[in-house]
Amino acid sequence: MQRLGQSFNSAGIALFARVALSDQPLALPHLSVPDIRWVDWNALAGAGFRGCVFDKDNTLTEPYQLELHPHVKASLEECRRAFEGRLVLYSNSAGLQQFDPDGKEAAVLERALGIPVLRHRDKKPAGGSEDMERHFGCKAEELVMVGDRYLTDVVFGNRNGMLTVRPAPFTAKGEPKAVLLARAIEERLVKRWQMAGVQPPPHPLATNPAAAAAFLQHPDNW
Ligand SMILES: [Mg+2]
Repeated sequence: MQRLGQSFNSAGIALFARVALSDQPLALPHLSVPDIRWVDWNALAGAGFRGCVFDKDNTLTEPYQLELHPHVKASLEECRRAFEGRLVLYSNSAGLQQFDPDGKEAAVLERALGIPVLRHRDKKPAGGSEDMERHFGCKAEELVMVGDRYLTDVVFGNRNGMLTVRPAPFTAKGEPKAVLLARAIEERLVKRWQMAGVQPPPHPLATNPAAAAAFLQHPDNW
């Protein structure tokens, strides 16, 4: 039941409808990668970014799992070093007041993954940047948002002026049906908009696609 509640995100659906009708750039990430190994964290830190905000399911772990996916372990360590530990997990379950009022789930995740979980009130893509800005002590546009969902993570990051990175999900295994359906719809829409030439919102530290591409690396480096 709780999973159903977590996957039904009415504010998110309403916001995505608005994005689809009038603000398509918000759904498009600045960087699309197969997984986070393709991101050059040192280049991002060198360009002036100050910290990273991660989604959990299908970004760092398989859905509802507590272990880092083997593909991301070394990259996450690299990210931690590049940003001197300034990483945070922003989940639509753990740390969300509605589902985790006493922060128990957040504490379990923090122990399992070794990343602080931001306590917050709103589900992505709703919500502003105050909690993140307070946590990091910088502007949201100096932060990188990394998450697999266009509807939640990318729209949330772009609405708050962050640089958005979208890794492909690891697996459909364990995803609630509502999420699979939402994923299919948003992937189709995003593909259509990309083919029509829609670009993500401009970001001051990545002014065009070529500038954003400088933050990519080939995982053969690993
Ligand atoms: Mg996710």
